[in-house]
Amino acid sequence: MKKKKTIALVAHDNRKKDMMEWVAYNWKELLPHSLVCTGTTGKLIQETIEKQCKVHDAIPPEVTRLKSGPLGGDQQLGALICEGQVDMMIFFWDPMQPQPHDVDVKALLRIATLYNIPTAPNRSTADFIISSNLFHQKYSPILKDYSAYIKREVDL
Ligand code: PGA
Repeated sequence: MKKKKTIALVAHDNRKKDMMEWVAYNWKELLPHSLVCTGTTGKLIQETIEKQCKVHDAIPPEVTRLKSGPLGGDQQLGALICEGQVDMMIFFWDPMQPQPHDVDVKALLRIATLYNIPTAPNRSTADFIISSNLFHQKYSPILKDYSAYIKREVDL
């Protein structure tokens, strides 16, 4: 992962306030990076960062908006992680309310774990990630070797 990172940001509805507070507090740290978000989270993040940029005369970062989570956005994000196009994920998921796309949420968390990208499910973890020295450096997450699995014999 390069110094300039692609950061995925996703928040369930009950966690969007948390996410916007976190983004408003950390907007400067986020500026040099590319952001990729599910639809509604991305719209709110764009508004939040643009507001800060206007006040401080800064250029807003690039924000890619995928589909809304329940409409496939989580799966799009999972695919980007598989392709090595996402370096870390801040995903404030709701532990108190069932989601219509629960299977997609689980799949996204699984893929983020499989590809060993730093993943923050809450603000404190996001704070630790963004204040880590590694956040500002090149970093290569170690990937488990699945070649034996890929080459396995399958009985037909
Ligand atoms: P949203 O999706 O940003 O479009 O609300 C978030 C999610 O539920 O994954």
